[in-house]
Amino acid sequence: MAALIQFDNTYQRDLEGFYVPWHGESWPAPKTIKVNHVLAKELGLDFTALDEAATAALFSGSEIPLGASPLTQVYAGHQFGSFNPQLGDGRALLLGEVVDSNGIRRDIQLKGSGKTPFSRGGDGKAALGPVLREYIISEAMHALGVPTTRALAAVTTGQNVLRESSLPGAVLTRVATSHLRVGTFQYFAACGENDKVKQLADYAIARHYPVLVNKEDRYLRFLESVCHAQSALVAKWMSLGFIHGVMNTDNTTISGETIDYGPCAFMEDYDPATVFSSIDAQGRYQYQNQPSIAIWNLSRLADTLLPLFDDVEERGIEKATSVLSGFSEAYFTSWTTEMRKKLGLTLEKSEDTELASSLFRTMENQSVDFTKFFRSLSDSLSGEDQNTRQLFAGPSSIDDWLAKWKARFAEEPDAETSSHMMKKTNPIYIPRNHKVEEALKSATHEQDFSLFEKLVDVLSTPYDKRDGLISYESPAPNAFG
Ligand code: AMP
Ligand code: MG
Repeated sequence: MAALIQFDNTYQRDLEGFYVPWHGESWPAPKTIKVNHVLAKELGLDFTALDEAATAALFSGSEIPLGASPLTQVYAGHQFGSFNPQLGDGRALLLGEVVDSNGIRRDIQLKGSGKTPFSRGGDGKAALGPVLREYIISEAMHALGVPTTRALAAVTTGQNVLRESSLPGAVLTRVATSHLRVGTFQYFAACGENDKVKQLADYAIARHYPVLVNKEDRYLRFLESVCHAQSALVAKWMSLGFIHGVMNTDNTTISGETIDYGPCAFMEDYDPATVFSSIDAQGRYQYQNQPSIAIWNLSRLADTLLPLFDDVEERGIEKATSVLSGFSEAYFTSWTTEMRKKLGLTLEKSEDTELASSLFRTMENQSVDFTKFFRSLSDSLSGEDQNTRQLFAGPSSIDDWLAKWKARFAEEPDAETSSHMMKKTNPIYIPRNHKVEEALKSATHEQDFSLFEKLVDVLSTPYDKRDGLISYESPAPNAFG
């Protein structure tokens, strides 16, 4: 019988010593909640012929598919600034890799599949709420055009997990272009295993940045490429008001995909100091800090690669510093590009960065909903400022900026093209916190997945207005979140 999934497992084959072969737990009564058949098709997979028992067994990790080489990866990481020399997949299992229909290699990983050698004090499990949360938000991010890990399936295990209370256990099947993290490099560097850091860098270059393979200065260019990928990623986050919440180095990918959706959220009222994570007491990962945290994390990657840059340490440091100092420019270029799209500007004018920056200064202390504001700006194009102005606590505070924007806009060649661009860049529907919480609550406490299904559906087309979805457009009634 042909294998259900055509695995081709390079991590297992090429990186012995970087993982522990492992297995999933056997669960009492796994049950399928959702399979992402659109993503499955993109991966060249078809699960439609599987019956419920086989689907649930596959996506819970109870049954390992033919050709998989399940393993748990080791990594380290700076968590809120403090180095932890060993983290690793404490509740995740990499089943293996597939090459998708675009020729891109993708990891298929189970999250919440049971204890591993890296579980430390944890139980290796995931509760249903966080699994559905990651499903909803990662798929929403994808629909919004943000590089991200994806959600292939969610199942319940039939076993409760103990958190503040006893909650249904679940497993998420996550797809990523790889699970290589800054922390993966940090683990081997901290062990003093520089040959392994080199081996990992060679693997990462071949997998993510293959044009660099034969370049003499490939390790430095690799650092530069990761810097570019991360600067573009964080610029996207900033343009959507997205706050990751746990930008630890173990949650910073080499691919430039968003990973690990924990206490993340989209900002409603604009406030650059917004923090959602209750464990981020210092506000380290607040909205406005995200670009500088990204460069800090990339500097930790650079630390691990120093011996590969030059035989002489000082020269290696000099080279790394010069690459890292390019992050800021790369970030502002990406950010300005994102902002031009949001503001309907197809021409590139040098004053655009300042126009966008001054907008954010104007939005401060105005209790203005980030998402609604940008969407309503496209209506301002037809001379209708009223809706936009009313979003501000003091409507006249935006008048000067609107006048500046319109003056700049007058230089644009085609208002129609600009308007279209704005409507394809500024979403109507984002995963609003109260909607996410409402869906998780009814799934967890009433086994009712209809709100989850509805939310996933609404967020799959975030730019297109649909009838009857007004509650999905608006912030929570009582400034929830
Ligand atoms: P995260 O906050 O999900 O990025 O996880 C940070 C680290 O804690 C990783 O090494 C995880 O594998 C580990 N971890 C998180 N939750 C659990 C759990 N329930 N059991 C075991 N390890 C966990
Ligand atoms: Mg993590």
